[in-house]
Amino acid sequence: MISLNKYNQKRNFNSTTEPEGAIKKSITELVFVVQKHAASNLHYDFRLEMDGVLKSWVIPKGPSMNPADKRLAIMVEDHPYDYQDFEGIIPDGNYGAGTVMIWDNGTYALADEEGADNVEKKLKSDLEKGHLSFILNGKKLKGEFALVELKTKQENSWLLIKKNDQYASDDDVLDQDKSVISNMTLEGLEK
Ligand code: MN
Repeated sequence: MISLNKYNQKRNFNSTTEPEGAIKKSITELVFVVQKHAASNLHYDFRLEMDGVLKSWVIPKGPSMNPADKRLAIMVEDHPYDYQDFEGIIPDGNYGAGTVMIWDNGTYALADEEGADNVEKKLKSDLEKGHLSFILNGKKLKGEFALVELKTKQENSWLLIKKNDQYASDDDVLDQDKSVISNMTLEGLEK
């Protein structure tokens, strides 16, 4: 539970419907989720399952399918596995108050599994090295991406970069602005 302490400390589960932290794992493929979150600042939360939790980054401008875009991604506290299913409203007065929409989800894999007898171990060591390459199989985000840690004074700063492949595109993927679960927009969910 250690890695979920921060998550749990920030929340009062009597007043938010967000899930309380628990370690869980997918039975088959690893999952990812991107949540669009209208908190005090609109942003996208990018989460990758690893070791029974969701490793999490806040992407202020959201992901892009254009390899020329490098989107700042701030690594934040691990979120519980069940957070992938959270869509709804975090009430005023709670941490992250605002509307959360499941903008995209699906499975993901290491970009290069060759020589990796244990995929999650390799993912974790790549994460520690600050360079992770992976393939997303979502409804909106597809193909190879990299998360690269910036070696700057500002801690936890990474870039999310689309790799050039058949899925790369200049079209703004954020124009697809409906939930992959409820098919509602943020505005629709707010009502
Ligand atoms: Mn958020």
